Amino acid sequence: MAAGFGLSAQDLLRGILGSPHGVKVTNTPATGLELFLSPSAQVVLARFSGLPRLPVLLPNLAAPHSRLVDDEVRRAAWYGPCGAWVGACPPCTARAWRPGQGVLVYPGAAGHVCRRHRRWLLAHTERPASIPLQTLPEVLAAHRRHAALVRAHPRAEQVVSLAAAVVWSWQVQGWNFERVWQDRARRLTAATGCTSAAVVPHALLTYPETIVIARLLGDPRWQQRLRAATTTTGTAAAATMLLKEIGRRVDRPWLADWLAACTRIGSREAARTDPLQRWLLKSADGANGDALWSVHQSAARPTGYSNRARFLTDRRSRFVVEEAKAASLTGGWEPWAAPRAVPDDAMPVTVLADTARLCRLGDVGGVQ
Ligand SMILES: [Zn+2]
Repeated sequence: MAAGFGLSAQDLLRGILGSPHGVKVTNTPATGLELFLSPSAQVVLARFSGLPRLPVLLPNLAAPHSRLVDDEVRRAAWYGPCGAWVGACPPCTARAWRPGQGVLVYPGAAGHVCRRHRRWLLAHTERPASIPLQTLPEVLAAHRRHAALVRAHPRAEQVVSLAAAVVWSWQVQGWNFERVWQDRARRLTAATGCTSAAVVPHALLTYPETIVIARLLGDPRWQQRLRAATTTTGTAAAATMLLKEIGRRVDRPWLADWLAACTRIGSREAARTDPLQRWLLKSADGANGDALWSVHQSAARPTGYSNRARFLTDRRSRFVVEEAKAASLTGGWEPWAAPRAVPDDAMPVTVLADTARLCRLGDVGGVQ
């Protein structure tokens, strides 16, 4: 709209919102990225644009912000987005891109991949940034299944968040040295030009396994089957059945034996908070809704790249984070649900260390 009038966004806002009570515009698009408006300012902007439904069409415009005071003054403020964002796929939105000014979008549950142009979209404010997926076909296939899960399951985000916690529990036990992920990390380093240490904490590396597990746990037929197995043969047998099925689907036939060994040598607390074990017990008890899909705070996958890097790299994590930041690998989409589903999403690193000690790869062997 500002470009159409040949004005800066700030001048346009001041012109539109000007009132006898004054107008206050805080920050700039360069410092805040996202525009938030007070209720009175929303009404004026919607009227000016000729789109009474503007707050519906652009819901974030009408999102309340705790720092925006609601009084008679029409207020606009540029603050950081409240959710994950990525740069739009350039071939899909070519006309909207301008030099030094990107087109930023909220990926939501699964909008972080353009399958048509085979790109994993990254977060960069000024230029298109993405990971080409031509050499990572399993990621494209996983995204197709992920999108289907989002369409079919009302709690898909929570299911994926739980599945991510399951995979994370394996990563902190040393799975980053495992054959399938090593191979994928090699292709990812070639696609990004980054070192292996910088790509391993990124969500893409474990995305296919995360979606496989999410589909399995979110399948009502498998939930029914596990409940029946728990009743007839006991929880341990049901857990083994589930792990064997996961191992088959993620191409790690050793999974059930390996995790059983981990459980034997791990702490009781680690076993108590293990996301898969907890889900199995809750499912057997007939839990549903938030109760079924919540993750214990000490087992949740860290949402921050730097927190993950601290666990997964032997190099000084500060250098790893700097490298990843330069390649736009530290932001963007993450497999986590809204705070409602995961109330304890902010996980202190010191808590994670307990999970990491559950067992190490070398303790049990058998991983290829
Ligand atoms: Zn595209």
